[in-house]
Amino acid sequence: MINLENYHRIKEEAGKYGAEIIAVSKKKSVEDIRTLMDAGQKKFGENYVQELVQKQKEIQEAQWHFIGHLQTNKVKQIIPLVSMIQSIDSLKLMKEVDKQSRDLNRKTDCLLEVHIAKEESKSGFSIVDIQNHFQSGALNNFPNVTIRGLMGMATMTEDNSLIREEFRSLRKLFEQFKSPSFDQLSMGMTSDYRMALEEGSTMIRIGSAIFGERN
Ligand SMILES: *Cc1c(COP(=O)(O)O)cnc(C)c1O
Repeated sequence: MINLENYHRIKEEAGKYGAEIIAVSKKKSVEDIRTLMDAGQKKFGENYVQELVQKQKEIQEAQWHFIGHLQTNKVKQIIPLVSMIQSIDSLKLMKEVDKQSRDLNRKTDCLLEVHIAKEESKSGFSIVDIQNHFQSGALNNFPNVTIRGLMGMATMTEDNSLIREEFRSLRKLFEQFKSPSFDQLSMGMTSDYRMALEEGSTMIRIGSAIFGERN
């Protein structure tokens, strides 16, 4: 069940920090997305290519952010559909996004996904990788990609001090390379968005608090 009360409350909280909500609509219906658009939301996050392709066909007015693990062989399909890819987790993927963007005469906004959690299962660059790639100039070779900032997910834990520490380390990395075009820090989900806002998030990715639990 969609919860508009939560939506408006979280939106107001984010607004106090100058941050915005990306409404994570994976596994949720087109009808629910339309309901949220009627309430004023424009940006939606999706994790799966097929789902994004189908929903975008039906709702072209939304701004779609791809936030899931992306295989290089699926990049071509989503480039024309997305306003941002938040989950660039390798140079190989970035190279493909650049190539497919060039073929379509586009520039694609991207975030670099950083692995800050203790969990092995999560993907992304390490903090040291990011520092090395910036310093070596390896990130300058992609003229059709605009690297707008960083994205990260904290460990799934009850230990709030660990979550806060992980958000802080991401914020610190972000500040090292911040510029007028590298200005987005995507961190915080339903369970930890408050801490993320306090630690400097500019985009919180909220699914279940708005759309209800997923099956
Ligand atoms: C599913 C997902 C979210 C939203 O999670 P909720 O806990 O439902 O708010 C945020 N970010 C990513 C990368 C996700 O996969």
